[in-house]
Amino acid sequence: MARVRADTADEPTIVADPDRMHRDVLAARGRGRRVGFVPTMGALHAGHVSLVERAATECDDVAVSIFVNPTQFGPGEDFTRYPRSLEADVAAVAGRGATWIFAPHADAIYPPGCATRIVVDGPARRFEGELRPGHFSGVATVVCRLFLAVPADVAYFGAKDWQQTLVVKRMVRDLGLPVEIAVCPTIREPDGLAMSSRNAYLSGDDRTRATALHESLVLAERAWRAGEPVTAIEQTMRKHLASRGVAVDYAAIVDRESLEPPSKPPADAVALVAGRLGSTRLIDNLLLPRRG
Ligand code: AMP
Repeated sequence: MARVRADTADEPTIVADPDRMHRDVLAARGRGRRVGFVPTMGALHAGHVSLVERAATECDDVAVSIFVNPTQFGPGEDFTRYPRSLEADVAAVAGRGATWIFAPHADAIYPPGCATRIVVDGPARRFEGELRPGHFSGVATVVCRLFLAVPADVAYFGAKDWQQTLVVKRMVRDLGLPVEIAVCPTIREPDGLAMSSRNAYLSGDDRTRATALHESLVLAERAWRAGEPVTAIEQTMRKHLASRGVAVDYAAIVDRESLEPPSKPPADAVALVAGRLGSTRLIDNLLLPRRG
């Protein structure tokens, strides 16, 4: 059901202080307003905006956080060069339903001497968890901290980061956090490349070759529908990626909830892919139709 915003102001209020954010959200909820939350690392694109718009149709107020979270980057990853563009980000969500932009400083999220981390096992174990040790602990820790600062009714995440949605849902369930998790579809460029803040790193040739990730997923879906065995499909994906010059980190068909090999039919599966083009690492996935 579409909601009507009480205030028609297009400009979101920018908040840096977690206590102020917390007070504002609780006050809104106290007035009976449903509050949505979209956590991001900024450099906002149409994928992020789609989450904000979905939140705005389902909620009365929407908080969008912008925080480049240092603890989810490994040593040698792109934390320092990650794009930061607060002004453009404010413009990107102005008029799209954002009530607040929560842009905290790092020491408001991680106070000096901070010694606490959240570690999720289960869905965090394989794939990104294996290749980026500590990544999902950083994600879980910051998302939990952000949920405490923004006590929303519902938080919106993109299916683009499928494994991350599983990790967040597991943390919410295990810790009994009082927030609903909504997962929204991946928004793509016209040529199929999943939108990502990291696409900005791609030079002309790498940008062209980056479509191989989505192409490999489309090939996987076709082969899956044709009933081909999982190992053959995975090999087809890897071959296609390699043929386009993508260094493959993984190309896998797994159960979409457990991330383990899919059960015999009926299986609700997902195709996951990660690869590198030069120094840029990209991930993508596609939910496969049930077969059986
Ligand atoms: P990030 O800023 O990359 O941490 O992403 C913030 C949120 O936006 C996460 O929930 C992502 O899954 C989601 N997101 C990123 N890219 C897309 C996309 N292309 N389509 C939909 N959601 C996305």
